Amino acid sequence: MSASASLYKRVQRVIPPMEWPVFAPDIDAILRLKRERNAVILAHNYMTPEIFHCVADIVGDSLALAREAQRVEADIIVMAGVHFMAETAKMLNPAKTVLIPNLEAGCSLAASITAADVRLLRQKYPGRPIVTYVNTSAEVKAESDICCTSGNARRVVESLGVPEVIMLPDQYLAANVARETGVKIISWAGSCEVHERFTPAEIRQLRAENPGVVVLAHPECPPEVVDEADFAGSTAAMADYVTEKQPGRVVLITECSMADNIAVLHPKVDFVRPCNLCPHMKRITLPGIRACLETLTHEVTIAPAIAQRACTAVERMLAI
Ligand code: SF4
Repeated sequence: MSASASLYKRVQRVIPPMEWPVFAPDIDAILRLKRERNAVILAHNYMTPEIFHCVADIVGDSLALAREAQRVEADIIVMAGVHFMAETAKMLNPAKTVLIPNLEAGCSLAASITAADVRLLRQKYPGRPIVTYVNTSAEVKAESDICCTSGNARRVVESLGVPEVIMLPDQYLAANVARETGVKIISWAGSCEVHERFTPAEIRQLRAENPGVVVLAHPECPPEVVDEADFAGSTAAMADYVTEKQPGRVVLITECSMADNIAVLHPKVDFVRPCNLCPHMKRITLPGIRACLETLTHEVTIAPAIAQRACTAVERMLAI
């Protein structure tokens, strides 16, 4: 029996049997290539279930992936996620070869701001610490004082102990953190193209159509959407909420694959699934991962001077 045959049980709730033969050959090839290349695959919570549950070695949100990337001992890290995640893995574990299956897997937040923008903000608002979301390029991180993720943004801002900070580049995460902490936040007009599309009216309609549904929203959603939710937190916090509280019916206001991936683990929970697809995350596919391991492309590198400064901002975050 091939390795993929036993893996199907993990995903049978979300992948129909007729689709499995499309995935199985690539899964078998990837499992073999990982052994031959001494490689591990880190997969973000927004990967599709056949990647998340069948070929990934480590899964999680961007904070968990950053922490785990530091500890990888294999020679090669394949990032099944977007480009800034591969850069973060490289800066935290520079001796490893870090590969990303598709160089086009970007992020609307990372694309919204440059290092020159950050330098101008520092000039305009001297003395304010600059907190940068990990969803940014290494060059932007290098101009920052400390990084944060959606899972620790509040703790990072509170740890600074100052009344005002600059927080980049997600205007909605910044607004949500400002409300939670009471810290005045100078923000940037970036946004996640997935989470900004959700609206309060959509949440109210979901409640009307699904009585009793528990609504969990990602803090990259606009504050008026978060106001309509029962709970707001990172993808890891959403997964923990479902695990601990086992709601009868739940809706995750985030990227589509998140609900598929955790539905597999919670057969008694009914997942309502309106969602928005991230076109960047969906550029990572099984054939892409297979080709990446066969040809060892695309390698992600960072200029040493940038990597060192960016890494300092990331490590300050990880120390909190
Ligand atoms: S879901 Fe949003 S924040 Fe995440 S990679 Fe896609 S565009 Fe960027």
